[in-house]
Amino acid sequence: MSFIPYSRQEITQSDIAAVEEVLSSDFLTQGPMVPKFESAIAALHDAQHAVAFSNATAALHIACLALGVGAGDMVWTSPISFVASANCGLYCGAEVDFVDIDPKTRNMSVGYLSEKLEKASQDGGLPKVVIPVDFSGLPCDMAKIRALSDRYGFAIVEDASHAVGAEYNGQPVGSGLAHITVFSFHPVKIVTTGEGGACVTNDPDLAAKLALLRSHGITRDSSMMRGEPHGSWYYEQIALGFNYRLTDIQAALGISQLARLTAQHERRELLARRYDALLERLPLRTPPRFSDRKSSHHLYVIEIDEAQSRVNREQAFEALRAANIGVNVHYIPIHLQPYYREMGFRPGDFPISEKFYAGAITLPLFPAMTFAQQDRVVDVLSRIFV
Ligand SMILES: *Cc1c(COP(=O)(O)O)cnc(C)c1O
Repeated sequence: MSFIPYSRQEITQSDIAAVEEVLSSDFLTQGPMVPKFESAIAALHDAQHAVAFSNATAALHIACLALGVGAGDMVWTSPISFVASANCGLYCGAEVDFVDIDPKTRNMSVGYLSEKLEKASQDGGLPKVVIPVDFSGLPCDMAKIRALSDRYGFAIVEDASHAVGAEYNGQPVGSGLAHITVFSFHPVKIVTTGEGGACVTNDPDLAAKLALLRSHGITRDSSMMRGEPHGSWYYEQIALGFNYRLTDIQAALGISQLARLTAQHERRELLARRYDALLERLPLRTPPRFSDRKSSHHLYVIEIDEAQSRVNREQAFEALRAANIGVNVHYIPIHLQPYYREMGFRPGDFPISEKFYAGAITLPLFPAMTFAQQDRVVDVLSRIFV
């Protein structure tokens, strides 16, 4: 039986041709393909500006810096995410804390966020930035989070690494409720550039800061300079930036991939619905659905309730792996990582996240997955529970 991965990129002949064209052009980086890709990402998410980065981790770092995060500040995120959602705050010298998830959405709980903000407003520990994560591609309840942002004065960086092209209240993710929305183009995600990421925003000043800090803090725009240009060669470094640029080779791959996005979303939706139906009778929880949100179905995460099923997560996971099915677990709660425990976080700090983790298994889901492959996954799962 061949191995079925949990996710896999799809590269077509036209993707390869698009990359080859850049390879024989004048610009491998800092050429015309990056702005073209940025325009496409902005248009897709109904945002005014997009700034491409070498990966989403770099995009999250610069998003925090552009919003002024530094030593003495607080950044809050969800424990159920990839570590990069929290590390970006630490890169800026800020302190990181977490808000437990809502077991219904698996995203940061708006209720807990609201309680924690109220308490922090009395104790003087309000966050500078909150990073809600659209786990598995399901958008967070952004209207409510934005209302809290307006009330308590924090900025929102929505980590939509999973959610390229997802929708909330009929609007694309990134269209304006968050101050900055971040996407990832890693090969396991919805659209790939090999490595890659982007920020979108509707704020022109933030967009300018993102672009400046992506590229060494250097500007050639005389309106941003501190002094008079010495000549047409002149540039100024006006901030401490990085080299977090995406290449034109990668941008061309991204543009080519975006042409198939609708078809890929439809395929993911079809496969997710098929899993929902095939798994209905098993003692496990399938991903939630909400009528006001359209998930991009980056991950299909089931939850096994040990109390109900006799079989625990580890047994189910090992049985699937033994059948050559590349299941995975998203995520080990970030606060349980040794690096975070050294900061004082403990088991029990975010109990809903820990309970979710104890039962979670990510089943394979990717556009090229066949019904036969999906039937094999369901068949193994069905036999585990008899
Ligand atoms: C993948 C991922 C990232 C990091 O993306 P890279 O492009 O690999 O740096 C950040 N946050 C979440 C939620 C992710 O899934």
